Amino acid sequence: METTLRGVGVSHGVAIGEVRHMGTAVLEPPAKQIPAEDAEREQGRARQAVDAVAADLMARGNLAGGEAQAVLEAQAMMAQDPELMADVDRRIAVGSTAERAVYDAFAAYRELLAGAGEYLAGRVADLDDVRNRIVARLLGVPMPGVPDSDQPYVLVARDLAPADTALLDPSLVLGFVTEEGGPTSHSAILARALGVPAVVALPGAGELAEGTVIAVDGSTGDIFVNLSEEKKAELEAAAAARKAALAASTGPGATADGHKVPLLANVGGPADVPAAVEAGAEGVGLFRTEFLFLDDSKNAPSEAKQVEAYRQVLEAFPEGRVVVRVLDAGADKPLDFLTPADEPNPALGVRGLRTLLDHPEILRTQLTALAKAAEGLPVYLEVMAPMVADRQDAKAFADACREAGLQAKFGAMVEIPSAALRARSILQEVEFLSLGTNDLAQYTFAADRQVGAVSRLQDPWQPALLDLVALSAEAAKAEGKSCGVCGEAASDPLLACVLTGLGVTSLSMGSASIPYVRATLAKYTLAQCERAAAAARAADSAEEARSAAQAVLSGE
Ligand code: PEP
Ligand code: MG
Repeated sequence: METTLRGVGVSHGVAIGEVRHMGTAVLEPPAKQIPAEDAEREQGRARQAVDAVAADLMARGNLAGGEAQAVLEAQAMMAQDPELMADVDRRIAVGSTAERAVYDAFAAYRELLAGAGEYLAGRVADLDDVRNRIVARLLGVPMPGVPDSDQPYVLVARDLAPADTALLDPSLVLGFVTEEGGPTSHSAILARALGVPAVVALPGAGELAEGTVIAVDGSTGDIFVNLSEEKKAELEAAAAARKAALAASTGPGATADGHKVPLLANVGGPADVPAAVEAGAEGVGLFRTEFLFLDDSKNAPSEAKQVEAYRQVLEAFPEGRVVVRVLDAGADKPLDFLTPADEPNPALGVRGLRTLLDHPEILRTQLTALAKAAEGLPVYLEVMAPMVADRQDAKAFADACREAGLQAKFGAMVEIPSAALRARSILQEVEFLSLGTNDLAQYTFAADRQVGAVSRLQDPWQPALLDLVALSAEAAKAEGKSCGVCGEAASDPLLACVLTGLGVTSLSMGSASIPYVRATLAKYTLAQCERAAAAARAADSAEEARSAAQAVLSGE
């Protein structure tokens, strides 16, 4: 029977495909005793699971080729290591279940490796992966991590962390559905970066059966399960019509009466640039540099590696504007070697600019790499700091930029309410503001952006958030400086009109949203946007603000 579930739509479009679950970390199997007569059967189960996992790793290695093949083959050999297998058999013979015996035998081997010099210690993660695969197979639960599928699928997960998503093959992911997360979570941001439809905060997402065909409508938040052929055809036709209408709208961002609002792209690195160029982005409004830091859990990337990545992005917009955000580590983007592990409230702890001021060498390397990357290019480089709380923060960042000899405009992100309230004071130190509405909502409403249950409060239509946007934009205007939005609020076409009406001077978003925002903005004059903004601010809830703005713009 066709059923419809409703979550929060966070990335436009419709995806139809089979459900594949992101496997969670394997739990420790219970240490229960089995009768002696079951031992042989359990040993058989263990051997079968080991052989199946080894064969699967070999097959994936063949498909991947190159360096990945060598790693996967080494893992397959680990799985079938005769000593490990003998240990598994011994443990089963004295009463362990197959899954518990595998778990314990690998734990003993792991300890041996961990203490056996740097090279072998580095293999511990591979060994853990092999163990998790075997135990998952024995328990009959999904394999941990990204699904092993060579067919396109809709990824269903509890939530997605940046480290998980780094392993995704974007050509296979049709869309996302997550149980947790709000409109500003990393799942939402990643879906927009990949240009795939996504729905987050869907209670019960974990219960969607593996392999079921579902349709994900990322605009409405609807999930259709077991959909009929008619429904499928209807959704596909609507998606195609929408795509054609968008393709007809091109050129720089502007209102109907020609008030220019540059439409910029949010990128995580050079890989996101082609989509930005294709969407007609007028530059980059947020380069989230922390993605360069995810490859190595122990060290920052070298200056040379950073120069190369920055240069690739800068070169893609020779005459355009590129706003690079220095490393924003901590809270939802922890880095092992920088983020304190014992903070009771990481979102309120040492993160963003605070981390960099505690580790000035990391900031210095990043700024020096940026200066080198921009050398000789005509690009209009801007560099900004995340999580600026006050003028003192802004000054410390501007001083570091000057010391590194950076020829760029220095800016501050407005992500903490104090920065919006005292925007004029911050603008004494920097040349522009960029509103990070994701964190600004999190801190204004005391609502963790990773928690689906409070997604109501992360809604950027909340009038209190609109008030803080207005305060920042007014302060920038009074100082003759610019104030953009680079949080996810900019990717909502109707809200983009309201932000423009509030005085925001540029909008930066995941590339896939640019055509939607461009087409909507072009329909209304600046005066209409201003009236819509005033109506939204006069409302008492996000829902009312949205309806009030919609009513003004549609002339009701
Ligand atoms: C924000 O907080 O709005 C923002 C743009 O930064 P991030 O989402 O990377 O924290
Ligand atoms: Mg932020």
